[in-house]
Amino acid sequence: MASVHNEPVVVLGLGRFGSSLALELASRGTEVLGIDINSKIVDALAGRLTNVATADCTDGEALRQLGVPEFQRAVVAIGTDLEASVLTTVLLTDLGISHIWAKALNRRHAEILSRVGAHHVVLPEQHMGERIAHLLSGRMLDYVEVDQDFAMIKTKPPRDIVGVPLRESRLRSRYGVTVVAVKSEALGAKARFGYATADTVLMYGDLILVVGTVGDLERFAESD
Ligand code: ATP
Repeated sequence: MASVHNEPVVVLGLGRFGSSLALELASRGTEVLGIDINSKIVDALAGRLTNVATADCTDGEALRQLGVPEFQRAVVAIGTDLEASVLTTVLLTDLGISHIWAKALNRRHAEILSRVGAHHVVLPEQHMGERIAHLLSGRMLDYVEVDQDFAMIKTKPPRDIVGVPLRESRLRSRYGVTVVAVKSEALGAKARFGYATADTVLMYGDLILVVGTVGDLERFAESD
């Protein structure tokens, strides 16, 4: 059975968010139909996406004519025009699209989109702001929130866990976090991330991937 992950995607609204998303999908070999009300934006993307069209996404008939009901996956990437964002989401729900992603500008907008049928709502600006706040504070080099309150960070080991096997560093009992992978500094350019085991001994300058709750990870990343 074909996986939904290979299915074509329709992106409605091709502003900075929608066009970046559409181009990234296309570069990974996904068929993408991009729709925007602004013909200049559409012309600029012609030839770079599988198909593009100029249309008002709040017009159900236009969406039908463009074959939108045949898509299983749709992304509503209209933000500022709340009315258009909500109406487009409602139309996609009515058309029976099984995976609707929608971009929201704030929590209230997100709540409305969920209520009118969006299956996944993303808050890109809020999400990026939170992510950068984590990177700015402490020793985190990268931060990915995997689920509400659970995250993975890339960081360097604090002094007190360097030079001893992970089993002896008691990270779970002291911080509640787990080191899942290590990239050894000593290997230079050849270094790759590999799984950490209880016998892994970390060195200064190594990079580690650590998972845990957001609070525990923050405490860990601020330790010395
Ligand atoms: P971004 O930050 O991604 O640039 P934004 O949050 O500022 O976007 P908008 O400016 O509202 O969002 O819209 C993004 C895109 O959606 C724009 O290119 C705009 O032309 C398009 N758009 C807005 N309303 C409609 C509509 N009714 N039908 C189709 N496209 C629309």
